[in-house]
Amino acid sequence: MNVIVIGAQWGDEGKGKVVDIFSAKAEYIVRYQGGNNAGHTLVVNGKKTVLHLIPSGILHAGKICLIANGVVFDPNIFFEEVQSLAESGVFKQVLPYEMIRVSERAHVILPYHRTLDRLREEYAGNGKGKIGTTMRGIGPAYEDKVARRGIQVIDLLRPQLLKTKLQLALEEKNILFKHLFNTQEVEFNKLYEECLKLGEKLKPYVANVRVILSEAVRDNRPILFEGAQGTLLDVDHGTYPYVTSSNTVTGGVLTGSGLGLNLKAKVIGITKAYTTRVGTGPFPTEIEHTEKELANEIRKIGAEFGATTGRPRRIGWLDLIALKYAVEVNGLHGLALMKADVLQGFDHVKICTGYRYASSTFYDLPSSIEDLEKVEPSYEILSGWPRYEKNNMKSFSDLPQEMQTFVRTIEDYLGIPVVLLSIGPGREETLLLQDPFQS
Ligand code: GDP
Repeated sequence: MNVIVIGAQWGDEGKGKVVDIFSAKAEYIVRYQGGNNAGHTLVVNGKKTVLHLIPSGILHAGKICLIANGVVFDPNIFFEEVQSLAESGVFKQVLPYEMIRVSERAHVILPYHRTLDRLREEYAGNGKGKIGTTMRGIGPAYEDKVARRGIQVIDLLRPQLLKTKLQLALEEKNILFKHLFNTQEVEFNKLYEECLKLGEKLKPYVANVRVILSEAVRDNRPILFEGAQGTLLDVDHGTYPYVTSSNTVTGGVLTGSGLGLNLKAKVIGITKAYTTRVGTGPFPTEIEHTEKELANEIRKIGAEFGATTGRPRRIGWLDLIALKYAVEVNGLHGLALMKADVLQGFDHVKICTGYRYASSTFYDLPSSIEDLEKVEPSYEILSGWPRYEKNNMKSFSDLPQEMQTFVRTIEDYLGIPVVLLSIGPGREETLLLQDPFQS
């Protein structure tokens, strides 16, 4: 069986840990959307390595890591990560390109995309137009893709085609830089030479990833699809416009990797036992203003600061309306419930089971962010669970009764099982209740 791992909230759910555990069971690990705006901190041979682009499955020997067509690909970041992994001794037995392949069709993030990203955010100032992007050029690269002005990886290996496409792209970008943002224009020759050099260096990694995947599916090789960001950040189904620029939901797996509906896969949604959000946008169960002390405590215990930007994350209670939405738009088969340890020792925990608005209660996410901003959460209040000795928690029945009730309440509401329960950051602090690769 293949497995798709999807963020069921606003990202940062702890996908890195789940992907690490599931990677051991897969032969191929695939990134299919987003870019280097994901962030996993991993400790390899005692050395801290942050991977934003290369699938974290790279740390497991003998796996093939694929960056598929739906990703926007920054070659400079890619080479930085390859270098850092090499320094950690990951490629001792193999050449890096034996473990990593990059799709010919992935779109390239160029320096002007990063500049544009930064200028747009600065231009918006602190006003409503600010999205809170990671400023890595992801959004502008996706814009160019859809506007049919993008440069694909394969173009870096085709000097003539690259020249034509880059000239066309710069024509328009330079008008924006000069006349809208009053900044320096991009010099064609310098960038062109740079792109050709990157292409040369990238050559051994470039492949038709769709074909590799199609053969893997045909031969029943287990594949892990590693989603980045989260469902509520999906460009179509998230809290638009405070979203990322790609399809983070299950549908993105197919378009982002070139597979069809014959792909057999279990879709696992990752959620924390509470909710966090980075950046701007509506967040119904946020407690920053109502229970500030508690928000600070959760942030501190849960280390809720962005892996990519270091920004403090906004904190809130678990939102089952938003999770039910994630179950539906992704077709989730199961949940990985993370960071349940963070809430231990609290005398109660809340879960949102309805949205109140204009004296009615709703059980679905409103389509307009204007409405989502106004809803008041209705909470079910559950007893908290006492602190526990984590070494004694070997199976579900070892958990404090109140914690079991918390898990069962979530399962009953959503109608899907919790297949993995994470009770600490370590690999061993995990209860795998069902193995999705085996079902
Ligand atoms: P991702 O982008 O979805 O992987 O999420 P983050 O990187 O923001 O979150 C992962 C962080 O949470 C890492 O520092 C993990 O070590 C930590 N983490 C993952 N699962 C748990 C857990 O169950 N409990 C605690 N306390 N920390 C966890």
